[in-house]
Order: sequence, then C-alpha cells, then structure tokens
Amino acid sequence: MKRSAETATATPDARGYFGEYGGRFVPETLVPALDELEAAFSEAMADEEFLGRFAQLQATYTGRPTPLTYASRLSEHLGGARIWLKREDLAHTGAHKINNAMGQALLAQRMGKRRIVAETGAGQHGVASATVAALLGQDCHVYMGSVDIARQQPNVFRMRLLGAEVIPVESGSRTLKDAINEAIRDWVTNVRDTFYLLGSALGPHPYPLMVREFQSVIGLEAREQVLDASGQLPDVCVACVGGGSNAIGLFHAFRNDESVDLIGVEAGGHGIASGAHAARFADPSLGRPGVLHGTRSFVLQNQDGQIMNTHSISAGLDYASVGPEHAWLRAEERAHYTLATDEEALTAFQTLSRLEGIIPALESAHAVAEAIKRAPTMPRDSVMLVNLSGRGDKDLDTVIQQLEGEL
Ligand SMILES: *Cc1c(COP(=O)(O)O)cnc(C)c1O
Repeated sequence: MKRSAETATATPDARGYFGEYGGRFVPETLVPALDELEAAFSEAMADEEFLGRFAQLQATYTGRPTPLTYASRLSEHLGGARIWLKREDLAHTGAHKINNAMGQALLAQRMGKRRIVAETGAGQHGVASATVAALLGQDCHVYMGSVDIARQQPNVFRMRLLGAEVIPVESGSRTLKDAINEAIRDWVTNVRDTFYLLGSALGPHPYPLMVREFQSVIGLEAREQVLDASGQLPDVCVACVGGGSNAIGLFHAFRNDESVDLIGVEAGGHGIASGAHAARFADPSLGRPGVLHGTRSFVLQNQDGQIMNTHSISAGLDYASVGPEHAWLRAEERAHYTLATDEEALTAFQTLSRLEGIIPALESAHAVAEAIKRAPTMPRDSVMLVNLSGRGDKDLDTVIQQLEGEL
C-alpha cells in the first residue's frame, strides 16, 4: 500500500485538494461564497450546539442509527464470507441522501440563508432536500432536467407536495449534468440569500469535504455495529459509487484500518465495450482526469474533452464524473474500484429480495452484485460489510419493464 499515514489524515489540504484531485474551478464571483461557506462549515463543526441539534434530528427524524442486518440466507447461499448490510434504506425518505441534506440545510439556517437551491437527477436528492426544507421552513428550488422530469414523475410530485418548486432544465442533454449547471448559475446570481445544497461528494471545495463529513455517520455507526455483531473488523467494505457520497460515508471511518479492503462499485451499464456505462475508472479510453462542475477528478470524456453521455439502469449512478476523494483513494491504492453491469445489478436486486426480504435500490444492487461475486472467494470466517444505500420502491417501474414476463 502506497499511502502514508500523513496524507491519510490531512485530506483535503487547505485548498481542497486530495492529492492532485479536487480544488475549486469556479467563476471569480463564486470564490467569496465558497470562502464564506468554508468558514461557516468549519465553525459549525466546532460548535457543540450545532452538532447536538444535528445529532438530535438524526435520532428523532431521520431514524438513526440505522440497523446493521446479518444477511444469513445470502451468506449461506454464497458459501463464503459472512455478509452484513448497513441499512441506509431504512433512513427517512429511503436512502442515505438525507444525512447530507440535513447537515447542509442546518448549515444554511445557521448562515441565515432561507433560500435553498438543489439539483436532482432521479429526484432522490431533490426529495431529501425538499423534505429537510419543509422541516426547517426553508424555501426550496430544485433544478431537474426535463428528460428526468418526464421519467421520474412520482418524485416530481413528492417534491411539489413537500412545498418545493421543481424547475425544468431544457439545456444540453436535459439531465443531471445540466441541472447542476443551472443550480450553480442560480447560486452565482442569488448568492447573498441563497444556499446551494449539493447532493454528492462533488463540486468545488469545500463540498466534497462537507458531504463526506455529513455522510461519515454511516461508517462510524457501521464500524461499531459490525465489531459488536461479529467481534471483528470487516475484511472488506463494499459500496456503490455514483458521485461517491454513500461510499465515502462508509469508507471514511475505516480509512486507518489497514486490514480493511475498501471496494467501490461503479455502473457498468451494458459493459465497457458498449461505451454505454458510467464507469469512470474502469474505462481507460474514456475515463481520464479532467474538470467537471468545479472539481478535478476522473471524467468520462472524448478525445476533445467533451463530456460523454453515460448510461446506467440506476439513475443515481448515471454521472460522468466521480467525487475527487475517490480518484485520490484509488491513486493511493487505499480503495479499489470495480463495476457491475445493469444485468448483474438486476440479478442482485432479485437475489436480495428473495433471500433476505429486502428490495434494494438499483444503485445499492450494484454493491450487492459485487458481494455475490466476491463472497464465495473468501473464507467462511471472513466478514463483508455492504452498504445498502437505499430501498428499491422507487425502481419498481424500471424493474417491471426489464423483467416483463419473467415474474
Ligand atoms: C443517489 C444515490 C446513490 C448514488 O449517489 P452517491 O453519492 O454515489 O452515494 C446511491 N444509492 C442511492 C439509493 C441513491 O439514491
């Protein structure tokens, strides 16, 4: 392992770099706003009252700690490592996204900003943002590509029911990438009274750090729970990687446990050869270092640096870049990254449903797919921890279309 203890603890550096990844690539007008955000965030994280309020809402509203479930039938079926599931699917709104949305919304309140803007792809982060904005009495505006609005109607309705305004984005491919561009544009224009509530471990510094800290509760809880339940640290932790927030939230607590292997699973879509995927790390011809949405990381791009269109069966993994800390963890060989295809995720989706009575989000099913491949290669006394980032109710329409006739 190349990593030195020093670089592992001091990340990101003062300029927001994880090694050569991260930083701040934004228009001049946003720099004071990011400075203000960075200062407010570090003050908040040192303020017992803020942390106490956050912890209290996590316990009484989000439903934390989420349980750790031993997947006994899945483990038995695979005949190798014993598998534990961290149940973020049981958090309010059905996924880990509320951890970050709650932290940022409380920070917005502390900064005296009542107007929230957010971006959303499938609508999960939009729903989490609209939820906490309703809880805290904030005015929430969610940018969403018109293509996504058409295919994610139930979440659009949820956001409106929660009192948020959903703003259709008609530029570019009219999906997540374009929604982020519009949310940033709004923030630049209205920076005085507006807080940009970003949904993953992405964007300009301090967002990747801030999102990691708000999500790190996942790993902090799970590390203690798995020690209690199994009497040992896991041999391997597995999580799916879209922007990378649920994965970094799990990995962070284990970063100094050298014996614990950290595995991120990207969306392999129809396979690398097809070009229809969102595997930023696994496709060396399209995935290269580059800048997207204010941060330097691995980006799927063509020879001219044009951002590629991506594909995944799971909307939450369908993004051309990845959080900069993951690019760094990979370069340091502290974490390893693999992929699961649409087909493998669909199989895992059904396997977990039948063997454990848990219908996972299609995103989370990518992590389960890796567990299905890896567990049989591990000894029976070994321990695998899988982050179940969300529940699958939102994906039923997609799965019904795919499995038509089979069920
Ligand atoms: C959004 C989402 C993801 C992907 O986002 P990350 O930032 O990579 O965690 C994964 N799982 C679920 C359930 C999601 O809603």
